[in-house]
Amino acid sequence: MIDKPIETVMRESNRDILIPADLVATVNQDNNLQHVFMVLTKVKYAKIPVLDNDNHFKGLVSLPMITELMMQDTGITSRPLEAIKVKQIMQKDVPTIYERDNLEAILRYLVDENFLVFVDSDTHFKGIITRRELFKEINYLAHNFNKRYIALPVYNHKSKSETKNAKVHGSKGMIN
Ligand code: AMP
Repeated sequence: MIDKPIETVMRESNRDILIPADLVATVNQDNNLQHVFMVLTKVKYAKIPVLDNDNHFKGLVSLPMITELMMQDTGITSRPLEAIKVKQIMQKDVPTIYERDNLEAILRYLVDENFLVFVDSDTHFKGIITRRELFKEINYLAHNFNKRYIALPVYNHKSKSETKNAKVHGSKGMIN
């Protein structure tokens, strides 16, 4: 669990870590890969969300998923892309979040991924939370924590380096 004072200060920043749906580059699941290739090349994002006609979140598509299909024995060609829809190749097993206040889950997920998809309870796409936006929150926390709280060292706490030194001393017959 996130320590309460940490969470309190992060929430005080008044910044929204969500990039709303209308600012996120997306493609429709029925778009062919030629179109998706052009969108991805133009927006310069590595991976973007795929939606259906009712704005439900369906999956993610990345440039490498498409370029792999362009590599033929004879060289690189975009010809096969026209006949394939993005829903045929997109990544479908994508975790999403619908409680945007669940800072704990967001932090844990963004350790390994660049962004997290935010949906409502009907899986309508609402936006994304990116690692960059979260880092801005952590930056805010790092610079504002002592305006709200006084951090005191925990009595009798040994830091990792102190513990390591104690063991080294111990092996030399000193106090452990
Ligand atoms: P960032 O933390 O800003 O580098 O974003 C991480 C990832 O989130 C990018 O590589 C994209 O896959 C995705 N992303 C960020 N902003 C957008 C956007 N406006 N539209 C689509 N995807 C985005």
